Amino acid sequence: MQINQQLQFREKIRSIYFQLLSNETTRNNNLFSIVSRSLETILHVAFVGVYRYDIWTNSFFLVSDQNNPSYVRKQINDYDHVFRDAVYHNNMDLLSKNEIVLPKVMKKNYITIPLVPNKGQVDFLFIILEKDQINQIMKFENVIKEETEKVLTILDNMVNRTKREKEKHFLLELTSRLFSTSNKEDILMEIIEAVQKRYPNLSHYLLLSQDHENNLNLPIKALEFSDNSTKQVSSQAFLSGETQIEDRLQDKKTYVYAPLRGNQGVYGVLQIITPTVMEFPEQELEFLKEFTMIAGKAIENATLYQDSRHLVSDLKLINDITHELNSNLDLTEITRIVRDQIVNICNANEVGFIYTDNIDANHFEILNGSTPYFSTIGGRSLAKDLWGQIQNRQEPIFRGEFQSDREIPFHSLMAVPMQHSGTTNGLVMVLHEERYFFSFDSFKLIQSLLQHSTLALANTILKEKLEKAVNTDYLTKLYARSYLDTIIRKHMEEGEVGTLILIDIDDFKKVNDVHGHYIGDEVIKQIAEIILTNIEEEDVAARWGGEELAIYLPNTSLNNGVKIAGKIGKQVANFTSPAVTMSAGVSSWTANTEDTSENFFVRADEALYEAKSFGKNCVVKKGIKEKEGILYE
Ligand code: GH3
Ligand code: MG
Ligand code: MG
Repeated sequence: MQINQQLQFREKIRSIYFQLLSNETTRNNNLFSIVSRSLETILHVAFVGVYRYDIWTNSFFLVSDQNNPSYVRKQINDYDHVFRDAVYHNNMDLLSKNEIVLPKVMKKNYITIPLVPNKGQVDFLFIILEKDQINQIMKFENVIKEETEKVLTILDNMVNRTKREKEKHFLLELTSRLFSTSNKEDILMEIIEAVQKRYPNLSHYLLLSQDHENNLNLPIKALEFSDNSTKQVSSQAFLSGETQIEDRLQDKKTYVYAPLRGNQGVYGVLQIITPTVMEFPEQELEFLKEFTMIAGKAIENATLYQDSRHLVSDLKLINDITHELNSNLDLTEITRIVRDQIVNICNANEVGFIYTDNIDANHFEILNGSTPYFSTIGGRSLAKDLWGQIQNRQEPIFRGEFQSDREIPFHSLMAVPMQHSGTTNGLVMVLHEERYFFSFDSFKLIQSLLQHSTLALANTILKEKLEKAVNTDYLTKLYARSYLDTIIRKHMEEGEVGTLILIDIDDFKKVNDVHGHYIGDEVIKQIAEIILTNIEEEDVAARWGGEELAIYLPNTSLNNGVKIAGKIGKQVANFTSPAVTMSAGVSSWTANTEDTSENFFVRADEALYEAKSFGKNCVVKKGIKEKEGILYE
């Protein structure tokens, strides 16, 4: 009898639901309301409400909205899944105790029938009825449940189909927008707009692997800046190319990481954060996968395009600079050009150059073109540290959060070795006070720039070394006579006044005879050292020949020259060992008198000759017109 009743009831409810689905006019109405109205009619109850679970808000919504009594709650929040579980397991006790659907004061009789129309979907029917109807209706509970679940499944499928169509349309439109531009900035903006449109209630970020100048205040972050957990899970998404999901129980949120994948690599990760811990729907993950694939390919396209454009402009820059460097420049000029280019490329605060002659790698020189920081104690110690590191690893250094034992006001660092014919000759150090200031692109460009300028730099250094070697006397390390000649000739053309001291060691033959030639050489060296301690930077001391030395004092008067010569003479007499004395002839020229360099030399020579004739160990001066001798003893 009961079975019969149930069968009849099932037939009835089926035919009503069938009509509902086949009737064209129902299409435009709220189908859930029609379901609830139909149930009210066949069950003869006061009210039937269809509540459906919404995963995004984690709540139940009353989706049938016709004739519902005002005291029935339209939205029921899911308190930590308790309510959802109660519905799912049909735990009525728990449900009625919670008094969730009706306020406590409403003394109504009601029952709930849980519905699970689809995997993961949990809904329920809420029925208000007379007390004596409860038993009667509970008899049909299973039938109501099964048939309503079926109709909801069909409705859901219909809804899903339109949803899929809308998604396809959405993605198609996005694709055409994304691929209509090669501007990365625009592409990122479009991607973010699309995410916003799709998930208006969820937080989201684009975590990009390559540095990106975020001028637009978009929710874009560099992967490096993320917290540890994000870094960990996002790099998993990044490396595997698969979407990762992380439930963070402590802040009750679910984080979804969808990699932005192109054909050649992964360009970043889209991070979506839900307001509660939740199971991200399978279909949504499918959508995300398609979405991020399109986004990844668009970013890839733009990156390749920009890279190729960069490549062209980078090549031009390097071509220009090598052209400039190949013109005949000195070392300081070259380092300045390279330094200015580096500052141009990356807006560095400081740029320093280290160079070594390779004989002793520990000994290095900070080149003149370096910026001021590298002449400070801090700058020199940093240079020393970096030079040591480069010796060990032979590889460039690129840091965005540079730390050192020393107090250094810079956080971003690039250190690029200058390598030439397989050896490291030098190092370029580039600094900025801000963290993560330099882009990887500029790092690569600077490397390339240095590769091309190292040869020019090495050549110039070699040339200058060679010139110095030619101009230096091997024994005394004073300048060679030819260099002194050149300097004097040049200065006589452009200067105002100059003085030449010619020195000859007294009775030097005897020194050689008594002590030997080697000791003789040592004495010449001692005198050279005494000379160097008595002259200024602009003065030029040279070996004039054999045991004769010369000093040219630009911008020094004859009498001051005599004084300096006298001082040197005294020191020579006192400090040489074996002790010797010297004689000196001093001559000068001035711009307002007709003169030649030959005459200038001759006058000094004549003065020296006179000093010898006066009895040696003295200084004689000979100006252009005067002729007088002065003894300093
Ligand atoms: P005087 O006081 O007149 O200058 O006598 P002197 O012996 O110094 O004579 P003079 O300057 O004419 O002689 C130069 C001598 O110095 C000749 C040579 O034996 C020696 N001499 C020249 N060049 C060198 C050198 O490079 N090393 C050594 N050890 N001796 C040199
Ligand atoms: Mg001599
Ligand atoms: Mg002599």
